[in-house]
Amino acid sequence: MKITPLIGLEVHVELETKSKMFCGCPADHFSKAPNTQTCPVCLGLPGALPVPNKKAIESCIKIGLAVNCSINRLSKFDRKQYFYPDLSKGYQISQYDEPFCSEGFITLDSGKKIGVERVHQEEDTGKLQHTNLNGEKVTLVDFNRSGVPLVEIVSKPDMASSTEAKEYLKKIHEIIRAIGVSNADMEKGQMRLEPTINVCIENESGTHYTPLVEVKNINSFNFASQAIDFEIKRQVEEFEKTGIEKTPTNKTTRGYDAIKKVTFLQRTKEEAKDYRYFPEPDIPPFIIEDEVVEKLRRELPLLPHQEISSLEKIGVDAKDAKILVSLQNRVAIQIIHDYSDDNRVEVNKLASLIVNGKLDPAEHVLVQYEKLTKVGNTDTAELSKIVQKIIDNNPGIVAEYKKGKTNVLGFFVGQAMKETHGSASPQALTKILKEKLDS
Ligand SMILES: [Zn+2]
Repeated sequence: MKITPLIGLEVHVELETKSKMFCGCPADHFSKAPNTQTCPVCLGLPGALPVPNKKAIESCIKIGLAVNCSINRLSKFDRKQYFYPDLSKGYQISQYDEPFCSEGFITLDSGKKIGVERVHQEEDTGKLQHTNLNGEKVTLVDFNRSGVPLVEIVSKPDMASSTEAKEYLKKIHEIIRAIGVSNADMEKGQMRLEPTINVCIENESGTHYTPLVEVKNINSFNFASQAIDFEIKRQVEEFEKTGIEKTPTNKTTRGYDAIKKVTFLQRTKEEAKDYRYFPEPDIPPFIIEDEVVEKLRRELPLLPHQEISSLEKIGVDAKDAKILVSLQNRVAIQIIHDYSDDNRVEVNKLASLIVNGKLDPAEHVLVQYEKLTKVGNTDTAELSKIVQKIIDNNPGIVAEYKKGKTNVLGFFVGQAMKETHGSASPQALTKILKEKLDS
């Protein structure tokens, strides 16, 4: 029996804009007094008219560009109808068949490309709060979040393990933060993850696909990864028990219980037809001109993978480059680039000192660097490495030394002093040299 998981991811990102998606209410809703940031538009009162937020649409297109999507010349908003207490309009303005961006990809470190089906713009819903009031169990609703710009990034089911899914999510997270469209703080719900999982089972009776499961609203990479692993196992067991296969209608939605580390059934999934999508009548379609797309493309900063390779090019170790970029340590990255042509500093050493927390890139970098790389402060292992390199590079002179010409020792010490920018003590170097040459 061969088992191949098919994992797709929907990622919701709350954009950082001043105002909401279709009205002038502030978009920053975090820990504000409930229902203080609402108006007839985001409450969906009769007669209110939405006006799209230009900055949000630009951010959506930037995300699309950063994940290699094509930007569709023609786009529109649609109404997605469903009833839920946190959705006072009775529908959500989203994009159905003509999203702003489609057909992109993210490249994993292995070189595998994960397809991005679409990146579309929509609005967030309100928030329900289940609580106790005067000894009674009640649910309160806060509409401050209602109408906050939300972008949905939908991947293809191209991931085959939770490890691949986690790497994809981390890359999306880094991109979003790098291009400055959102902090994507998962604890604040600014980035929410929904894996869609099923499994292809090949056995003696043929090829079978288990029913699709979407796991809703996960707020950490680890939980997403655990939920995926749990689902793969559960679906294989379920298939072995029941033999039920995927049909066009048996997709279900599950939640994830992070304490019990299990997924649980929430509801059978609505299909697109259940939402009765139709074009939003209050917002005309968009024509996005090439010049606009090119302008937004030019505004994009270096993307994480580009930033990593630019650090590697100047000599930073790949591992350190990745850490610096994922921490978004802008100051450090800039300092390392600034010192890349300075022959008093070896960039790989500088980067490694910063990554290991030994050097503060915000303070007198050179002074710290010289102090840290001085022999007294350099571990002997480091010095020994330098000496070994010089020995390896000069076999002819080593042979002379072995023949008895001990005055060549001065040459080696000189070379080592150069390598350490004169910071090593000649006595310490001579000692290490002699140990190595005489052994
Ligand atoms: Zn409003």
